[in-house]
Amino acid sequence: MRASHLYAPTLRETPAEAEVVSHQLMLRAGMIRKAAGGIYTYLPLAWKILKKIENIIREEMDAKGGQELLMPIVQPAELWTETGRWDVYGDEMFRLKDRHGRDFCLGPTHEEIITTVAKTDVRSYRQLPLMLYQIQNKYRDEIRPRFGLMRGREFIMKDLYSFDRNEEALHDSYMKMYDAYGKVFERCGLICRPVEADSGAIGGSGSHEFMVIAESGEAAIVYCSECDYAANVEKAELLPLEAVEEASKQLSAVNTPAVKTIAEVSAYLNIDPERMIKTVAYQTEKDIVLALVRGDHEVNEVKVKNELNCLVLELASEQTVKDIGSYIGFIGPVGLKNVTIIADNTVMRLVNAVCGANKQDQHLLNVNPNRDFTVAKTADIRLIQENDPCPRCGQAVKMARGIEVGHIFKLRTKYSTALAATFLDENGKEKPMVMGCYGIGVTRTMAASIEQNYDKDGIIWPVPIAPYHAVIVPISIKDEAQMKFAEEVYQALNKAGIETVFDDRNERPGVKFKDADLIGYPLKITVGPKVVNEGVIEVKSRRTGEVRHINIENYVEEIGAFLKKV
Ligand code: ATP
Ligand code: MG
Repeated sequence: MRASHLYAPTLRETPAEAEVVSHQLMLRAGMIRKAAGGIYTYLPLAWKILKKIENIIREEMDAKGGQELLMPIVQPAELWTETGRWDVYGDEMFRLKDRHGRDFCLGPTHEEIITTVAKTDVRSYRQLPLMLYQIQNKYRDEIRPRFGLMRGREFIMKDLYSFDRNEEALHDSYMKMYDAYGKVFERCGLICRPVEADSGAIGGSGSHEFMVIAESGEAAIVYCSECDYAANVEKAELLPLEAVEEASKQLSAVNTPAVKTIAEVSAYLNIDPERMIKTVAYQTEKDIVLALVRGDHEVNEVKVKNELNCLVLELASEQTVKDIGSYIGFIGPVGLKNVTIIADNTVMRLVNAVCGANKQDQHLLNVNPNRDFTVAKTADIRLIQENDPCPRCGQAVKMARGIEVGHIFKLRTKYSTALAATFLDENGKEKPMVMGCYGIGVTRTMAASIEQNYDKDGIIWPVPIAPYHAVIVPISIKDEAQMKFAEEVYQALNKAGIETVFDDRNERPGVKFKDADLIGYPLKITVGPKVVNEGVIEVKSRRTGEVRHINIENYVEEIGAFLKKV
């Protein structure tokens, strides 16, 4: 590719709308352009990278027995009604009607379609296991599309679905994908960590997320440095903490004028937040919920939702809190009626605790959960924190931020039961197929790769996904000998499979070097007077900065060898 021809309109300035590095650099390197919030055009450089990522994914999926197909983006509402997801999916689903007024959506995911495909044609256990996948645009009308390609409303995903005859066979398929995902991200040059994404109620963990560790990551993850436990914070299991040994005292009220937050009450009463009950009021689609955690803890809303089996969990308004007979800042579980109370395990072990009195400017002292109020449910509903004991080995856990690039999930028979996708087993008995689903965000992987590989000058592509391997920069395009030699190198390298850009533009070398660093080609080859006078080519690694002076005798092999080391 000649740079004079390459459509990669680079920008000098960082666009103001871009908050994270990958978004800034993709705009500056002329890789993407925005069409609407969360919807982008992939310009030639980005498209080349995406195709390389896709091919790595294809090879690894095929190696495990996956077969590629392509499903429709436009999906009929009926299938989604059958699984009950037409209503559940909510505003995240892009919906449309055809000319006859029938409902359709743009596929946010493809369980409904693929299960219908398998249902139609799979009859016998002999046709299983089956692994089908596609690489295609997905549509999700995210509340907050942001960070460029990180959270788009239209994005590219690889989604594979496995169909098996039983739980053990599903586990085999799952482990194949677990292994393949590790390979995909390693081959893309990413440092990635699988984390547990679910507590694994049924026979071991049923879901893992693959996280690229990066400061800008939207997901918080927790990991143990002693054992290999790692989990998404939302999903991390927690052991109840030690109970205080103390005789329970008599319940009493205390005036706390305008003292509302945990920190304020703690300071005012000189009591540790660890001895306080934090009460958070929520409105669900069914009822009003009080979630109780210890004063020094935070509520894990994902767990509360799962425990209560509700779809909506929003903080209750001031009015709602009034309606149930309480006041923001002074709310507590004692004496409140018409609310569902869910308490964290650790709260139920408190003795002589402090909580709001449901009266303006008052708190209660010596609250003893089992004596003073009744809860609908006691469960693990708090967020894990740095230094909490590891649920596996008890050592203090650490926190990090991650970008979720992949997600694997045991669906079991959720969709096959809903859509009656059955097969006949060895004994001629009809059974629902046991399914798994496995996604990789292709466009998000490209963005995540930049978050892990950049410096102040621009992107540093890992070789396997770099748009081109090398760029040739002639010092003077007026110098015929230089240009002739640069042309020769360009031809020879491309012929040898080293994808090379020839920067033949009528620009100063400084401009070309800046663009080369910004776009992030792994190798930069300078063709100047040295080549002509001494027969030596200068090659520089974008990542390490190492410069090699390569003799022109066998430069193709030498550059090829250098490329393996950068
Ligand atoms: P998130 O929690 O980030 O919203 P998700 O749980 O909704 O992700 P899945 O439905 O499991 O994601 O989708 C599989 C993969 O698709 C994710 O691991 C991620 O890499 C990618 N992905 C999901 N949503 C988006 C998006 N809005 N933009 C880009 N990639 C996405
Ligand atoms: Mg999502």
